[in-house]
Amino acid sequence: MDFRKKFVVAPGEKVRLAKIDPAYTGDYDSHEKAAPELGKQVERMDRLQYLLYADAGQSLLIVLQGLDAGGKDGVIRHLFTGMNPQGTFVSCFKEPSKIEIAHDFLWRIHACAPGKGEVAIFNRSHYEDVLVVRVHKLVQRAVWSKRYELINDFERTLAENGTRILKFYLHISPEEQLARFKQRLDDPARRWKISESDYSERELWPQYVEAYEEALEETSTKRAPWFVIPANHKWFRDLAISTIVADAMDDMGLELPAPRVDLADIRNKFHAAEREEKKSEKKARRAKSG
Ligand code: AMP
Ligand code: MG
Repeated sequence: MDFRKKFVVAPGEKVRLAKIDPAYTGDYDSHEKAAPELGKQVERMDRLQYLLYADAGQSLLIVLQGLDAGGKDGVIRHLFTGMNPQGTFVSCFKEPSKIEIAHDFLWRIHACAPGKGEVAIFNRSHYEDVLVVRVHKLVQRAVWSKRYELINDFERTLAENGTRILKFYLHISPEEQLARFKQRLDDPARRWKISESDYSERELWPQYVEAYEEALEETSTKRAPWFVIPANHKWFRDLAISTIVADAMDDMGLELPAPRVDLADIRNKFHAAEREEKKSEKKARRAKSG
């Protein structure tokens, strides 16, 4: 299945999240059935990220957004099984610091954009400035409503500079969120993740949905598309995202650069001894065999 076509938000398309099934798993009915395909996508990402790094002419930005317990951390862990940490980094955007809030909202974001050859993953992003900021009325509508255009301009700037941008909204149901909160409560290793705000934010679900829907509509562009990923099933979410990432990287036309040195010359200069050794070994073998 072409997950890109299936989950992309077409530019200008109206999004109704309530109409998208967060438990969708396509042609797969279990993790076991999807496992070989997952492995294949991890291998593709591994090969392509190596090429991106070697090619060093373009970059990739992966934006992850979603409500609490949507699975952003899990996606990052999965993506890294198919990427070398060298040339790949994650930036987490939390409440802005004093110095960050003193600047325009894109200031801290731009500083984390990937350089040529790099993959950057954003765990939350500049989109918080039209989401949490809107829902909690941290700035006035007149301020946040102008940000869609500023975001599109910013992403165009990155794209013009060779950055491929993929944005994922992890779509879970309120029931699934509550079940994940409960799992955290029951698992001593995950209790540290619980915060009071998880539950109070949950009360604002409809407001977040409204904010997400508008953000998706206003900022899904050809050069920086949004994908709404059904994310109730973690394995399906990982499969869809890694397939989309690998497909997009495949389209980047990445190539190993030509060697920067004269290989014959290098062989002559530095490996002559080895060659002589091989030659005489061969001679000896020939003499031995008759
Ligand atoms: P977490 O991702 O659970 O560690 O939480 C990070 C928190 O920072 C979330 O509640 C976000 O909504 C919040 N956050 C991120 N960016 C901003 C922003 N620009 N303004 C206000 N809060 C933000
Ligand atoms: Mg949280």
